[in-house]
Amino acid sequence: MLLSNTKPASLSKRHILGIEGMPVHEMMGLLARASEFADHPKETFHDCLRGRTIVNLFYENSTRTRVSFEVAGKRLGASILNISVAGSSVKKGETLIDTATTLNAMHPDILVVRHNASGAPALLSQHIDAAIINAGDGRHEHPTQALLDALTIQRKFGQIAGLKIAICGDITNSRVARSNLLLLGSLGAELRFVSPSTLLPSAFDDMGVDCYTDLEAGIENCDIVMMLRLQQERMEGREVPSQHEYFHFFGLNAEKLHRAAPNAFVMHPGPMNRGVEIDSQIADDKLKSLIQTQVELGVAARMACLEAVAQHL
Ligand code: ASP
Repeated sequence: MLLSNTKPASLSKRHILGIEGMPVHEMMGLLARASEFADHPKETFHDCLRGRTIVNLFYENSTRTRVSFEVAGKRLGASILNISVAGSSVKKGETLIDTATTLNAMHPDILVVRHNASGAPALLSQHIDAAIINAGDGRHEHPTQALLDALTIQRKFGQIAGLKIAICGDITNSRVARSNLLLLGSLGAELRFVSPSTLLPSAFDDMGVDCYTDLEAGIENCDIVMMLRLQQERMEGREVPSQHEYFHFFGLNAEKLHRAAPNAFVMHPGPMNRGVEIDSQIADDKLKSLIQTQVELGVAARMACLEAVAQHL
């Protein structure tokens, strides 16, 4: 089946390396197309990636993002290969460029890359022919996560402009926070970062974000409270004294959520650490939590991205 209401989103660049530099009309085009895919969640749209090969190259663990790209690609008719770094020549010391060049020789059309080094997808885009989609690079960006977050908010509230959105937790180490700042900010949201001072880079003060070091003050009257995981794998020292203490001051529970707007919703990119940044009662509250909706809409957001990138192939 082919969708008829909207056209594939069009992108001026061949790769999706980040939200930075993406014009607002391109962001809106991707969201409109993703929303249309989301309206038809059970249908397979065979044609647009038929005969195309997508390689998922993940150097960091992933459940949601990898599977979501796989489902999205299959719904568009592509063949998908998953390269698990644990079982690859990377473990024998092969460099990123050598691995990518090897894969490139097999002529994949799209390479979906997750890497612990910021800038790895951009580096690959200079060395190989396939189109690159960044599936999360170090502390830098996670553009498809931001797109699915924006899609979730837009479909819930009807618009993003004017909403008060608090992104709370380990901001320093979060590529999700960075991509959402760029995307939700460009679409007119009023953003706040809420974090212990040890996990809140001062650079954000200059970027028009209101920064808070007190959770309850930070989420006051917010429409969306987005919680982030403590990303221990990227921490350098003892930024947080203990998880127990962190939950006491920065963990979201039902009582603290009362400070947000009455119809506020809670989001989380996953994986959640229950009892650290979020209480189970809130995470599982079907009236308040959009966490499962985020996962569901992730497929539609990635379909829009894959289809848009395929226009350049
Ligand atoms: N899944 C998100 C990411 O890859 C958030 C996280 O890992 O905490 O950045």
